[in-house]
Amino acid sequence: MRQRLCALAALALFVAACQSVPYTNRSRVLLVSASEEKKLGEQAYADVLKKGKVSSDRTQVDLLRKVGRKLAKVADKPDFQWEFNLLEDDKQINAFCLPGGKVAFYTGILPVTAGTDGIAVVMSHEIAHALARHGGERMSQGVLANTGGQVLGAVLGGGAGSAASSQMYQQLYGMGAGLVVLSYSRGQESEADHIGLILMSKAGYDLEAAVSFWGRMAKATEGKRSGGPLDKFLSTHPASQERQAQIQKWIPEVKAKFPPTAP
Ligand SMILES: [Zn+2]
Repeated sequence: MRQRLCALAALALFVAACQSVPYTNRSRVLLVSASEEKKLGEQAYADVLKKGKVSSDRTQVDLLRKVGRKLAKVADKPDFQWEFNLLEDDKQINAFCLPGGKVAFYTGILPVTAGTDGIAVVMSHEIAHALARHGGERMSQGVLANTGGQVLGAVLGGGAGSAASSQMYQQLYGMGAGLVVLSYSRGQESEADHIGLILMSKAGYDLEAAVSFWGRMAKATEGKRSGGPLDKFLSTHPASQERQAQIQKWIPEVKAKFPPTAP
């Protein structure tokens, strides 16, 4: 009897945690609430800004924020408090967006973006990771793989599951080590490319810029491995040519389905 109850409760928990990704409708398991995710994203962001060197180059920061605001508008996330910062580190060819809309670019990626449209490619890709809640999904996969039993046990034993999963989240996603842990899967990368294109189209950017950007990115990162930033797209992303071909294939449909929204 007790076993059957447990199975039922586990099923209920699973169903409650099953959610689908915006735009692609892929369903996946999420054990972290959006608000929990947001809180931890904000903490991690404050930490990164504190430890890093925030750029005061007005021209570059203004450009970043202009593109960011445009994309944030079409991302339509009223619960996000968007922030866009540039961190001075020429060695990091990278950028990220944490849950809650906390975006950072490293100066190292700017030469590869080669201007506004390239910045929009990176920005939309990173925002897409946050919209799709890829961080929470990664964390949930970790929880299910490592301590699924414990978390379920805590939930069944008295509703402490959220605290338990929050603890796991802190471990996997929190400060310091967490920043290195979060690398996305190939599938998530591809999904972020797709959703990123949709955001770019809605915001009125040139979608072809995504194809040329990934070509430049492949050249710029040849033989290099990224150190610690959140989106390790240098080492884990789909092969550049494959990715460019996939993006090219998506462009006509995205353009037709998601035309630019009014300014
Ligand atoms: Zn990515």
